[in-house]
Amino acid sequence: HAKVAGRSQTSFFNPSMTRELVRRREIEDELRLAIMRDELSIFFQPIVDLGTGKIRSFEALVRWFHPEKGELRPDEFIPVAEETGVIVTLGNWITAQAARACAQWPEDVSVAVNLSPLQIRAPGAALGILNALREAKLDPRRLELEVTETLFVDDTHATAAFIEELSDRGVRFALDDFGTGYSSLGYINSFPFSKIKVDRSFVSGPNVGKKSDAIIRAVAEMGTTLGMEIVAEGIETIEQVRAVREAGCTLGQGYYFSRAVPDYLAAMLLAQERDDDLPKALMA
Ligand code: C2E
Ligand code: MG
Ligand code: MG
Ligand code: MG
Repeated sequence: HAKVAGRSQTSFFNPSMTRELVRRREIEDELRLAIMRDELSIFFQPIVDLGTGKIRSFEALVRWFHPEKGELRPDEFIPVAEETGVIVTLGNWITAQAARACAQWPEDVSVAVNLSPLQIRAPGAALGILNALREAKLDPRRLELEVTETLFVDDTHATAAFIEELSDRGVRFALDDFGTGYSSLGYINSFPFSKIKVDRSFVSGPNVGKKSDAIIRAVAEMGTTLGMEIVAEGIETIEQVRAVREAGCTLGQGYYFSRAVPDYLAAMLLAQERDDDLPKALMA
């Protein structure tokens, strides 16, 4: 991990480092209990068709409501879960919850789940996913697994086997945060991704402009030619919707549309959409 390496270069001891270590240690201990104590929940953020404005899927994003520390973001505890191996249990639980929620939605709406590399390399990883699907009675084609390029850095054999086994059963894969890692075209060539998610640093924020626009355009052109869909992450304004559409993205996700919401609100967003269709349906 680049983050860990960077931190260890601060060789002298300082109080903020100790606080950080104590906090990580606490998180590690408490994470094991959090599932049983019902402190974790899955929120869902819509992924919208930029042509029709309709919700095509939801990305499942884990939240931890800690009794003392308040709401913890996945960036704070997923790395700890990875270092300690808790990610395997946690990941299976997340997939099961996401599949269960998706089974309640209309059939043309799917769910996306983020997977850590460690989870994929664990023995029986594919089985964990298939069990979650079976228990929820969810069609595997409605599950999309989001992976980042860090997955391919080493041990490509286990990864390839995992992806092949699940793709054969209809599960789809999306390449997440594209543009921040190695962005090697080799991965796109070797694995059956159905989507590329362009990282939000190209969509909103200080580094967005003519250059990022041209990069999105090039990724979209390549991806579309290869039969993939291109998702723009982190859309916050209508101007950004226009820009990414213009650049060739067909799907969008971001605060402009909605933040991640609890499952009952996700269901409400979908019901609302059906209501919007009613006048048209009655006229037809
Ligand atoms: P990600 O997969 O790239 O997820 C998108 C992140 O961007 C989410 O942060 C989401 O809330 C945030 N986001 C969405 N729209 C906007 C926007 O318009 N503006 C801004 N500034 N941010 C936006 P979140 O939920 O904090 O998750 C962070 C990362 O943690 C995720 O990045 C993913 O890598 C990881 N993660 C989240 N849930 C899980 C999980 O269940 N399992 C695993 N292994 N990783 C997870
Ligand atoms: Mg993701
Ligand atoms: Mg992402
Ligand atoms: Mg991200």
